[in-house]
Amino acid sequence: MGGSDRDFSGLKLKCAPFRQPKTPMPVLTHPEFDNHELVAHHHDPKSGLRAIIAVHNTRLGKGLGGCRMWAYASEDEALTDVLRLSRGMTYKAALAGLPQGGGKSVILGDPRRDKTPEMMRAMGRFVDTLGGKYIAAEDSGTSVADVRLMAEQTRHVGGLTDARAQAAGRTGDPSPATAYGTFVGIQSCVKWKLGRSDLRGLKVAIQGVGNVGYRLAKHLHEAGAKLWVTDIHAPAVERCVAEFGATAVGMDEIFPVEADVFAPCALGAIINDRTLPQLKAGIVAGAANNQLALPRHGQALLDRGILYAPDYVINAGGIIEIYYEGPDYDEHKVSAHLDRIGQTLVTVFERAKQERRPTGEIADRMAEEKFRL
Ligand code: NAD
Repeated sequence: MGGSDRDFSGLKLKCAPFRQPKTPMPVLTHPEFDNHELVAHHHDPKSGLRAIIAVHNTRLGKGLGGCRMWAYASEDEALTDVLRLSRGMTYKAALAGLPQGGGKSVILGDPRRDKTPEMMRAMGRFVDTLGGKYIAAEDSGTSVADVRLMAEQTRHVGGLTDARAQAAGRTGDPSPATAYGTFVGIQSCVKWKLGRSDLRGLKVAIQGVGNVGYRLAKHLHEAGAKLWVTDIHAPAVERCVAEFGATAVGMDEIFPVEADVFAPCALGAIINDRTLPQLKAGIVAGAANNQLALPRHGQALLDRGILYAPDYVINAGGIIEIYYEGPDYDEHKVSAHLDRIGQTLVTVFERAKQERRPTGEIADRMAEEKFRL
């Protein structure tokens, strides 16, 4: 494990927790610790910021990853999340063919209730202390506006557009690119599993129609697919029903929908012992991060003959877009790179078939071959 090469004397390396633990929170022996290069905690009493940044691996480049704000039930839950997510970013960047490493940050708090501009500026200062080892971007609970506030304090942020990118219609929100990449990935899955290129009449069940899920629904609708949608936020469902003629289903009714594709676009760990037996779709392909509750669920999907598009391969559109942002932004280059997500998935599927191993395991190995050289 390479430790920090920065001076953190200005930071409290132990986060002031919601519930004061009696013993210091272990990081190096944490079950999700995977030789992360750096894990830093920070508490800014003035703004109330409590945050953790984790940089997993920078062998291929700086640790890029979103800044998530979430009402974690405990500090341990936040640490678990940031360790898992930052590791996922290393794998994602490697298989997306980007010269980037993996990092992530989490802010402990309810984004609707606790977030303030001063807190986001404090987060920017925290990011700045790492000197560019970690590049922050937006994520669940944070917006492009929040990243702009961070950018007042640090240049180590991504996902902000310059004039050229804006002229090409980009807003700095990675969701459109993620949704398009997921759409391309679904096309690849359908071709591989069902042998068809035409999505007309394809039945897709989407869980979560927020920033990514809604745009994915739009692409699928335009390609002629039939949609079933669910979301905890009723207006999001109603919008899909009104705009795309989608069928609204209850939260637990999405799993047994007789669909060709189940597209998880809400939260993680959604493929688990409870949901897996209910699934009717032959393909699981969606944008949510960390879809498998446990690695063994990848084997369980394989055993049931369900094709799984590894989450970090199919949802890499956002970081691909962020990588190209800057003065040389070229939308054609971005589109061409996003289209390669489909080819990467085919390579994963071919190798998984040859080796008779779960697709997620093969994707992990392909990524490790790149960043562990
Ligand atoms: P979002 O918050 O805009 O949308 C998520 C939606 O899921 C919301 O509408 C929410 O109400 C809904 N939801 C939450 N829990 C649910 C549940 N139990 N059942 C049904 N719906 C539920 O987030 P997003 O930006 O669209 O991201 C969606 C997923 O994709 C997340 O897992 C995110 O980490 C992942 N992802 C997003 C991007 C991106 O560019 N935004 C990139 C890569 C991965």
